[in-house]
Amino acid sequence: MGGDCSSRVYNRPVDRIYLDHNATTPVDPRVLEAMLPLLRETFGNASSLHWYGQQARAALDDARGEIARLVGAQPSEIVFTASGTEADNMALRGVAAAARAPRRKVLCSAVEHHAVVNTARALAEEGIPVATVRVSSGGALDLDDLAAKLDEETALVSVMLANNETGVVQPVPEVARLARARGALVHCDAVQAAGKIPVDVRSLDVDTLALSGHKVYAPKGVGVLYVRRGTRMKALLRGGSQERNRRAGTENVAGAVGFARAAALAREELAGEGTRLAALRDRLEQRLLAIPGAIRNGEGSRVPNTSNVSFERIEAESLLLALDLAGVAVSTGAACAAGAVEPSHVLRAMGLPMERVQGSVRFSLGRGTTAEEIERAADAVAAAVGRQRASARAVAARR
Ligand code: PLP
Repeated sequence: MGGDCSSRVYNRPVDRIYLDHNATTPVDPRVLEAMLPLLRETFGNASSLHWYGQQARAALDDARGEIARLVGAQPSEIVFTASGTEADNMALRGVAAAARAPRRKVLCSAVEHHAVVNTARALAEEGIPVATVRVSSGGALDLDDLAAKLDEETALVSVMLANNETGVVQPVPEVARLARARGALVHCDAVQAAGKIPVDVRSLDVDTLALSGHKVYAPKGVGVLYVRRGTRMKALLRGGSQERNRRAGTENVAGAVGFARAAALAREELAGEGTRLAALRDRLEQRLLAIPGAIRNGEGSRVPNTSNVSFERIEAESLLLALDLAGVAVSTGAACAAGAVEPSHVLRAMGLPMERVQGSVRFSLGRGTTAEEIERAADAVAAAVGRQRASARAVAARR
């Protein structure tokens, strides 16, 4: 996809640059087009017996098949949810609820998304034994630490495929090999991996795997949990018998159809888009790391669209605001929650000093990103960093 794609995917002021695709992506117009008939005409409830219901059911079944193809699963192993968060909750809580004592322990990596971290925390509060597996300073899972913490009482190991902040890809097949040897199940949060690198549930050898529509150019409000046939897990929601009793609630058929169209596009465009984004990301890093005191966070295998960089003597939050004024949208490792800046648990788990965590910015590229935007964004970062350091020096000189 070339520069053309930008105008097709985005409907935004031409001078604005969106480099926050790991937060969310715009809905691809081809996805929207696939969804519209389901909202306008064939809007039936997939459980209804009449024509409207039949149309919706057929569309939902087709969508399930397409999502299954994206991850190498059987259609019957795909459960639609309302988000990636719900899929993660469902996997952890569902497996923990079905586990039989003494096999109750849940292990998860220290760099999981809050959807996993906070679910594990809640399980711990409810009396389930939970332990965290360390990562290296480059962000990769410490397999020795995992092996040491795995035992005959471990019910589930949860390790993400690609990290949302650093883009680091975790050795999930090795995690699965270690877990299987101890009889534990494996959950993989592949929300940030799908559409960026190949995701295949059989070669990853996982039992459950979470996906989210809005990270792959489908709308918000639709997610998926792959559940390997025969996996023992309890349903999170109680209600109707939708999704083979695994997830109650009237299905979001238009969302599922949009997700399926997005999955098909991701499959078709994965190779070319991956190469294109990796080249743009490398160019961006070349420019950013030329700024004095800039350092990259995350080493080894990474998804092609993500770059996390810390700038010495810079508060990422003020840099983000300055970049926003310059028309460049990025995100920081430190999120402002309830008025307090909370440092990224991911970068902290990698052992980075607080100053480096607080000066970290995430740039995540996507389908609409162009080479020209990368140059403009890099210019804007260099200028903003320079200005902020100069004003800090001026303040210090006045003291
Ligand atoms: N897992 C990862 C790795 C994510 O990056 C996100 C969203 O940022 C989620 C889970 C949650 O997905 P959703 O926004 O669909 O709830």
